[in-house]
Amino acid sequence: MMAKELYNLGEMPPLGVVPQQMHAWLIRPERFGTPMDALRQEVVDIPSLADDEVLVYVMAAGINYNNVWAGLGIPVDVIGARNKAFARGELGEPEPFHIGGGDASGIVYKVGKDVTHVKVGDEVVMHCGRYSRDCAWVKSGGDPMYSPTYRIWAYETNWGSFAQFTKVQAQQCMPKPRHMTWEEAAAYTLVAATAWRMLHGWGENAVKKGDVVLIWGGAGGLGSMAIQIVKAAGATPIAIVSGEDKFDYCMKLGAKGCINRNEFDHWGMLPHWKDSAGYAKWLKGVRAFGAKIWEVLGEKRAPNIVFEHPGETTIPSSIFVCDTGGMVVVCAGTTGYNATVDLRYLWMRQKRLQGSHFANTEQSNQMNELALRGLLDPCVSRVFSYAELPVAHQLMYENKHPHGNMAVLVGATEFGLGASAKPPVAIAHPTLPKDDVHNTPHPYPMSEPLPSVAQAEAITVADDGSLVRDLMHRGIVSCTPDDTVGTVAKIMVNKEIHAVVVMDSTGKAMGVVSQTDMVLARQGRTPEQARALRAKEVMTPGCATCDAGMLLSEAVSLMTGRRMHRLVVTEHDQPVGVISMTDVVRKIIGE
Ligand code: NAP
Repeated sequence: MMAKELYNLGEMPPLGVVPQQMHAWLIRPERFGTPMDALRQEVVDIPSLADDEVLVYVMAAGINYNNVWAGLGIPVDVIGARNKAFARGELGEPEPFHIGGGDASGIVYKVGKDVTHVKVGDEVVMHCGRYSRDCAWVKSGGDPMYSPTYRIWAYETNWGSFAQFTKVQAQQCMPKPRHMTWEEAAAYTLVAATAWRMLHGWGENAVKKGDVVLIWGGAGGLGSMAIQIVKAAGATPIAIVSGEDKFDYCMKLGAKGCINRNEFDHWGMLPHWKDSAGYAKWLKGVRAFGAKIWEVLGEKRAPNIVFEHPGETTIPSSIFVCDTGGMVVVCAGTTGYNATVDLRYLWMRQKRLQGSHFANTEQSNQMNELALRGLLDPCVSRVFSYAELPVAHQLMYENKHPHGNMAVLVGATEFGLGASAKPPVAIAHPTLPKDDVHNTPHPYPMSEPLPSVAQAEAITVADDGSLVRDLMHRGIVSCTPDDTVGTVAKIMVNKEIHAVVVMDSTGKAMGVVSQTDMVLARQGRTPEQARALRAKEVMTPGCATCDAGMLLSEAVSLMTGRRMHRLVVTEHDQPVGVISMTDVVRKIIGE
């Protein structure tokens, strides 16, 4: 049949008939910005297919943060990156626009000549992992997730599901659960496949019958999937959430018990291990948290797996409560990336801290089996019309979107269409409290390219060129190794400084006594005992130095990297002064 050049939205072309053009929501570099500005409806040509590719008529699409980042153009200009790669003759694409949407349900309309496992007319859902079938690593049986050709569809590649048609590799297509509506089917794959790999992908630590699994963010996108996957494996999920109003939701999904994280306040990076009082306080907090796990579990057992994504604020606790030989598996750092680990617990109790990212084709299909069997509720919280697509992303950008998975109709003309069978088992479809919205902004997209040793793009560092010598304080306030802490304290107070350099008899800096060292020395001692200590006993040995000619920004990185507040400044290897964070703050206020 002759195709029309363009079909209206919702006007379904006859099966297998592909028009020349389609309606799509486009992002273009000239309007990078917040979703309401970045996303516009346009008409574009339908792309041609490679031999292993498939064109799917999109019925509904899932919504995730990647499109917010793509629209902002930060931290990566995905369009520019693809265009440049294409120009270099590498894996890239030439189009000057981006069509997002990395989750979808739809109907196969056209297949490339090598495609065998799907055919025109098949109802499918799609996972977002693409890779080259010609990659030597993949051909040798390696996990495609580690292939240099691996790309996240609709973020690192174009032609996502926010359009009438989407272009995917055939291996991305999986059968759509017949009992689900189009929008339900479009909502779960990304989060559920990620959770599946985290729980099933790591060898001897994979979840098994009888295991206990502690799940962060049990009412969130990943957490709600994790609860169901753990339950289906015959293991026991314990969910952590930020309020008791979410307990019922997690319990209905299959959690054995729930913990309100707001009952505890020991979160955050670990105190320094030398800080005995701080560490003891932290230990008290994390032990109470561990005891709460036992309480909700009804027995004194540590979790075999901790399902992690908050990252910086929770990893210390996750490592601590995880069982000997167990695994903390992490796919994100929503609260920050610098996770601190008390290595003693990691090595003495032989725990595993495992990174995990999305899922490969096999794992995505294993997850989808669960959905096909009716054992995975997609946990849809809100569905939008096609016209509301920017609104959905704007809510996400402003962190005002509801918990759970969201979807948008594309080809489907009404909400609730597409289910052609009864669920194989009854599904509870629990709902979250009405006013429950997100409270933690997403730091970065899941597929932000990380710098590696072989870096195609040059890394640029923004710097105003200030040098250490422009801000440093000349002169070193020092003490001898045998001066008492009492003497050092007097020097600090009288000179209004925060650290004293310990010099040996040859004038060489042996270490630094900082205010922190003094405070730590006081712990567990009377004031008299603390005052009587020698500088050499409390100092931080070695002396972090920088040259006066060093860039200020480099000195700041040295300090933040080592969690220090000052450096001794040298000229010709001789200590001549001090640069401190206070000096940098002074520069900021323009003093
Ligand atoms: P989500 O729906 O926003 O859920 C995250 C949950 O984290 C929230 O429900 C929240 O629950 C909890 N949370 C927020 N702040 C917390 C804190 N300070 N401490 C502990 N828990 C906190 O997000 P999601 O879809 O589950 O995704 C979670 C993270 O994984 C995101 O960063 C996402 O980008 C990433 N991700 C990675 C991949 C991958 O392949 N690598 C795939 C999907 C998602 P409560 O407030 O109730 O505790």
